Amino acid sequence: MNTDLIIIGGGYASVMAANRAAGRSGRVTLVNAGATFVERIRLHEVAAGSRDSAELPLASVLHLDVELMVGWAERIDAEGQKVFLATGASSVTTAWSTRWGAPRP
Ligand SMILES: Cc1cc2nc3c(=O)[nH]c(=O)nc-3n(C[C@H](O)[C@H](O)[C@H](O)COP(=O)(O)OP(=O)(O)OC[C@H]3O[C@@H](n4cnc5c(N)ncnc54)[C@H](O)[C@@H]3O)c2cc1C
Repeated sequence: MNTDLIIIGGGYASVMAANRAAGRSGRVTLVNAGATFVERIRLHEVAAGSRDSAELPLASVLHLDVELMVGWAERIDAEGQKVFLATGASSVTTAWSTRWGAPRP
């Protein structure tokens, strides 16, 4: 299938979805508020002092075919097929389409 995807969020679920879709769909873009992936299942090790950090560069856990955009998704215009992102001081708009159906309003 050749549908472009935008996946919002960069936690376990979104990373899995993006990596599974990569190479099977059109362009796959993952939008996350930050550029790091927090391994929450390792946070107790940080708390216990056996590990310095549970953060990884988000790009390092993504399939090479997944495009990463860092920003906060503020609004989805389903009709216009756009996601509006706040990226610090400025906002950018990017085209959006979906393979699995439109999100609920
Ligand atoms: C302190 C802590 C410790 C935990 N320890 C464990 C553990 O040991 N074992 C275990 O099984 N589970 C653990 N969990 C639970 C586990 O982390 C969650 O179940 C899991 O992270 C959920 O994954 P997710 O992908 O659904 O969401 P999340 O991991 O919450 O990821 C959501 C991502 O989406 C981004 N996001 C959200 N809204 C937007 C938006 N509008 N625009 C852009 N980006 C957005 C967020 O910034 C975040 O990066 C822990 C949770 C916490 C808080």
